[in-house]
Amino acid sequence: MATEKEKEKLANVQVIVRCRPFNDDELRNNAQQVVICKDFRKEVVVSQSIAGKKINRVITFDKVFGPSTKQKDLYDQAVVPIVNEVLGGLNCTIFAYGQTGTGKTYTMEGEFKRAKSGPKGQLPPDAGVIARAAKRIFNTLESQNAEYSVKVSFLELCNEEIIDLIAPEELSKTALEEKRKKPLALMEDGKGGVLVCGLEEEIVTSSDEICSLLKRGSAKRHTAETLLNKQSSRSHSLFSITIHIKETASEGEEVIKCGKLNIVDLAGSENISQSGAREGHAREAGKTNKSLLTLGRVITALVDHLGRVPYRDSKLTHLLRDSLGGRTKTCIIGTVSPSVHCLEETLSTLDYVLRAK
Ligand code: ADP
Ligand code: MG
Repeated sequence: MATEKEKEKLANVQVIVRCRPFNDDELRNNAQQVVICKDFRKEVVVSQSIAGKKINRVITFDKVFGPSTKQKDLYDQAVVPIVNEVLGGLNCTIFAYGQTGTGKTYTMEGEFKRAKSGPKGQLPPDAGVIARAAKRIFNTLESQNAEYSVKVSFLELCNEEIIDLIAPEELSKTALEEKRKKPLALMEDGKGGVLVCGLEEEIVTSSDEICSLLKRGSAKRHTAETLLNKQSSRSHSLFSITIHIKETASEGEEVIKCGKLNIVDLAGSENISQSGAREGHAREAGKTNKSLLTLGRVITALVDHLGRVPYRDSKLTHLLRDSLGGRTKTCIIGTVSPSVHCLEETLSTLDYVLRAK
């Protein structure tokens, strides 16, 4: 384990927990509440009575967001500092990790259906991290007197295969199956980063354009999911915003500052515990498992300062090689349900994200 002193240097990794409100099903069934968030104390209390015996676990995180947290509050408190780092020229990554149905996609992408646009120039209340970060990035860049460019890529990682969610291409079962036979390959760029050969990177000039790409990619993710009969709960998505800013140093010399924000909606955490449990799904589950397991190992290696960080052991960590560890900032958002029915997965989610602390 890292000593307190070593950890101080690594305030680079932030672990936060968000608990969603009860959903309609849970309300209808009068589900017992086993998770209590004490936002101000940064504590999550998990408690349950079994046969008269009370189990009580109190866990402290860097930040805790209870069920009444608004999208804007989470963004302001947890994401703004990270976006500022990206604008300052760092590579940063935000992960959402948790059981399917606990709000990973809601947190990162928000809800488009509910998204009636708010007052002019304002984002709808359900807008997620991506739209809010995009807005801040452009507001900041436009207010500065410097040349800049912004580009976006959006991919899905399913079964250790990369699917481009932005590329304009035919979406049919045959086309998708054809594509799966030659998935996009990874290539080291020689500067510590990794390129995805053939991945579309779209230059964008406003936050609205970023939101359109998000909507398009998200819709494609759902269409591909339906056509190929797979569950998005087993795939990861990675939305990346890369910024280049041309700055003139005091001696008149030009410097290009480059920052990247990666927003990762991870596969459902249940894929770790139930991998390969159901016949026919063994291969896919096993592979999703691999990226989630490797990510856990990479984070442990970084936090504990182990010499070898196993980035190359999975596509996800390999892709994020230049954005994890070193001079980067990482934020892991563990999402949980308040209900007793999710208790086991909640505890396993909290344990998984805790390893980064
Ligand atoms: P996941 O991506 O983890 O599988 P979703 O983001 O799809 O979960 O969330 C499942 C459902 O719960 C969605 O209908 C979403 O709108 C709702 N939901 C999740 N988190 C919240 C929240 N914090 N507040 C309100 N609704 C939420
Ligand atoms: Mg989701």
